[in-house]
Amino acid sequence: MPQKVKKFRFPEWYLRWDFTRQWREKKCSHLHLIQVRETDATVCPECVKLGDSWPSLRLCLICGYVGCCDGSKNKHMKKHVEATGHPLVRSIDPGEAWIWCYADDAFIGSRSKQLDKPMR
Ligand SMILES: [Zn+2]
Ligand SMILES: [Zn+2]
Ligand SMILES: [Zn+2]
Repeated sequence: MPQKVKKFRFPEWYLRWDFTRQWREKKCSHLHLIQVRETDATVCPECVKLGDSWPSLRLCLICGYVGCCDGSKNKHMKKHVEATGHPLVRSIDPGEAWIWCYADDAFIGSRSKQLDKPMR
């Protein structure tokens, strides 16, 4: 039996500090725009077409577009945000459900009080 590798996930408070250098969650005025919360997608379709890989995946919470993160070679989610103005994305890496608002530069925790219900 192959050994199951458990990938380490940073806690949300650490990611918020890493991304924003702030401990406290910023206000986001776009959360009412959320239309999509989950997806079955497990790949960045545009990277697959190009034959490239990516470290992490994001989901657009406005239209359901799936693309690779800002730390990837192709930055497909960033391109989507710039092309559409859709401000909210979440991580869809296994075990992650935090939200990033590009308009507010805000890191919204998956169980934030700003959300009407937790993200999963
Ligand atoms: Zn916002
Ligand atoms: Zn990509
Ligand atoms: Zn979108």
